[in-house]
Amino acid sequence: MGGRLPFTLLAAPRPALRCLHHPRALLTPLLHRPNTTSTRTPSPKLDFPALDAKWRSHLQHPPPPSTSEDKKKFYILSMFPYPSGTLHMGHLRVYTISDTLSRFRRMQGHHVLHPMGWDAFGLPAENAAIERGVDARLWTEQNIAAMKRQFEGMGVAFDWGRELTTCSPDYYTHTQRLFLKLHAAGLAYRAESLVNWDPVDQTVLANEQVSATGHSWRSGALVEQKLLKQWFLKITAYQESLLDDLDVLKDLWPERVRAQQRNWIGRSRGAEVRFPVAVDGAAEQTVQVFTTRVDTLHGAQYLALSTSHPLVQRLAATNAALARFVKAAEESKAASPDGKAKHGFRLPGVTATNPLLPGAPPLPVFAAEYVLEGYGEGAVMGVPGHDVRDAAFWAQNCPGEGVKTVILPSAGAAGAEVFTAHGVLSGDCGEFAGMASAEAQKAIVDRLGEKWANEKTQWRLRDWLVSRQRYWGTPIPMVHCDACGVVSVKEEDLPVRLPEGVDIKGRGGSPLAAVEEWVNTTCPTCGGKAKRDTDTMDTFVDSSWYYMRFVDPHNEKELFSKESTSLLPVDLYIGGVEHAILHLLYSRFIAKFLHSSGHWPSGGGAANAAEPFRKLITQGMVHGRTYTHPSTGKFLTPSDLAADGTIAGTDGVQPTVTYEKMSKSKHNGVDPAATIATYGADATRAHVLFQAAVEDVLEWDEHRIVGIQRWFGRVWGLVSTTAAAGEVPSDPDAAVVAETTAEKRLWREVQVMLKEVTSSFSETYALNTVISTLTKLTNTLHGLKPGAGVGAGVRYRALETLVHMMAPVAPAFASECWAVLRPGAAPVLQRGWPAVDVAALEGVVEERVRCAVQVDGKVRLVMEVEAERMAAEGAAEYVLERFLGTREGGKWVGGRERVVKSVVAGGGRVVNFVVGK
Ligand SMILES: [Zn+2]
Repeated sequence: MGGRLPFTLLAAPRPALRCLHHPRALLTPLLHRPNTTSTRTPSPKLDFPALDAKWRSHLQHPPPPSTSEDKKKFYILSMFPYPSGTLHMGHLRVYTISDTLSRFRRMQGHHVLHPMGWDAFGLPAENAAIERGVDARLWTEQNIAAMKRQFEGMGVAFDWGRELTTCSPDYYTHTQRLFLKLHAAGLAYRAESLVNWDPVDQTVLANEQVSATGHSWRSGALVEQKLLKQWFLKITAYQESLLDDLDVLKDLWPERVRAQQRNWIGRSRGAEVRFPVAVDGAAEQTVQVFTTRVDTLHGAQYLALSTSHPLVQRLAATNAALARFVKAAEESKAASPDGKAKHGFRLPGVTATNPLLPGAPPLPVFAAEYVLEGYGEGAVMGVPGHDVRDAAFWAQNCPGEGVKTVILPSAGAAGAEVFTAHGVLSGDCGEFAGMASAEAQKAIVDRLGEKWANEKTQWRLRDWLVSRQRYWGTPIPMVHCDACGVVSVKEEDLPVRLPEGVDIKGRGGSPLAAVEEWVNTTCPTCGGKAKRDTDTMDTFVDSSWYYMRFVDPHNEKELFSKESTSLLPVDLYIGGVEHAILHLLYSRFIAKFLHSSGHWPSGGGAANAAEPFRKLITQGMVHGRTYTHPSTGKFLTPSDLAADGTIAGTDGVQPTVTYEKMSKSKHNGVDPAATIATYGADATRAHVLFQAAVEDVLEWDEHRIVGIQRWFGRVWGLVSTTAAAGEVPSDPDAAVVAETTAEKRLWREVQVMLKEVTSSFSETYALNTVISTLTKLTNTLHGLKPGAGVGAGVRYRALETLVHMMAPVAPAFASECWAVLRPGAAPVLQRGWPAVDVAALEGVVEERVRCAVQVDGKVRLVMEVEAERMAAEGAAEYVLERFLGTREGGKWVGGRERVVKSVVAGGGRVVNFVVGK
């Protein structure tokens, strides 16, 4: 079976715990002190779950941050979860990372903010209400309570005093306030447009929530287009700073996240060109296209219009074939981008004239699936000679027609493929022939003049559609009055409470529209009869500002006070890369709005440019061990496997083992709570950090936790034998004085590691290397032999530093070790982070090596000599002088004048003196 190895380190009966608030009183049951007559007694075994239980209350509630002003703040945040009711492995990973780093920062003396809350509006609660008739709020609250208990088990310490829940009126009243502020600033508006409609969830979606293949981010349904009047937030008002300020985040955010945002915002610099269009020979209108390659205008061979272009729509009214094409295009959103690219319908009798070549033959005009309504004015020019997609379209729709080439490579000959790069304009381009592409772009726009062209910067980003036809969300605080139109609710009348106990059937329209006593209200302006807006907000609005609410979570009057914003921005944000665009882009927009509207006056300083998240870590996914049948490919459950790991009921057939995203259908999910109950929170945490770099996929192999437990066991052995041998120094805080070479070497090694670990915790976030460094130090300490020149004092301090460095990762285990090493002292988590002993780190340790001294080829003495001297010139002279000072030197050589020849061999390990007779 795919289960666990026996728990080899589990001690016999679990000790009775008497008092959770006095750690020392509990030492006895966990540390069975070895027999005092022998320090060689095997160290006691550890009961990891009991250790968790013992320290839980101490670890849950870190000491409140000091109010002293000189402490530097450090705001660390992991993306808050949706309260589904169960913590999964992804949660375990992200919260282990943030808890470890927050404990380190606290020990380092920062004023740490490490809050937690709940992204609690959204569809799962609503669907539970529809499918099982449970109350959405009750369901959510029960899930939150269950997840809080699971957090306790993980040994994570959040600042629960700042807890927030987005579905609670004391939070969403401020989300509504934010909406009103955006509305007052002209950044929230209602408009009718074609919107993405999810037919499964029965709601509209933002562009960011539709995949490249046209599917809903949530339900996976193929998204349809509907014409609806909806609320939008004008994120495009900030498009320039959202793009340009990505530079501020260089080396602070993962490069691929910055690249994804850059592409999504999509600034392209180009030109608008107007083509005169004739229908049945009569000049009709101009069609405007946007192009980033106006230098290829001589090569334009057709125009393509979107199926929703007014001209196409008008012609379709009297042309049945065109109408069928338009309808089919709307229905084929699922078609592969390749297939879509080639579908065209030539508009009969419609031609266009290239404004640069007014005398040339007119160009055909098509309706084409690939032209998007939102791009420019839903029209593009087709240049088959210099665009791959245009070439494919041209070959399909005008087979056999020639292709014009108007750009040549600046060096070398053109290849067989479509030449899409910049180059030099060909001899067919009249006065522009020989110009480089960039130069020609400007010259052509100038030549066409204002009537036919202008330079233009185009953006891909669209405004954020936030209306949702769902129940479980923040009500939009707007009222519709027949007399006054759309009117804002007054700020003092907030919150607009979400009615509770609503019978939601789901499917079709906003559930709130049916709650008449809620919908019918009075107009804030004229006092007449009016109706509330019955849509709720996209839950991404709730999460677009929650990190700012954490700095002042109990403020009833404002989003947060200006004074509290000194805690912003978030210094370190940790979450999944799937939020690269949605949540992170929306949050950047809202942060910039709240800065420019004066709510966050400093914006984190000029160098921060009102960016909400200074440093971003995107943790990798956790993949589960997956078993499949080698011939059928069927996923196997643990019960399909025999005890020896082969497939049960077969003749020893080995299953195929892979690591894949955890899912029910693959039977490869792992419950973190069960793992913690078996191995203890600390070993589980250390395992999570050790198995993969934070940004990489973590292949979850529970068998390997035993390796971590073995490591803990070795540390525990060192700690308990040290304590039992009475090696605790009388003044453990005195400066370390390393005397012997071995002591100097050990202490220097400890300092090198301390420096590395400190840098991993604070700069590189290479947390897997922290664990490997600490295990290396454990091995060094374990390998110290009695009489090898390291005294108890230095060994004790090295061990203590090891325990110190383990504390952020394994807080319960390190606390226990510390209590044994330093009975009665302040807990390790409340002590400062150890400072690197720079003198020891940089000091040169005199290295000594053994050297066999021969006289006439016979070894007469083995001496300790300085390695450095042996590597330098005059090594033989140095050894001879030392040798002559010994009894053997006097006997076998006698005097330096007798040496006729000296040979240094073996890298200084052997010196032979030839003595004249
Ligand atoms: Zn009114």
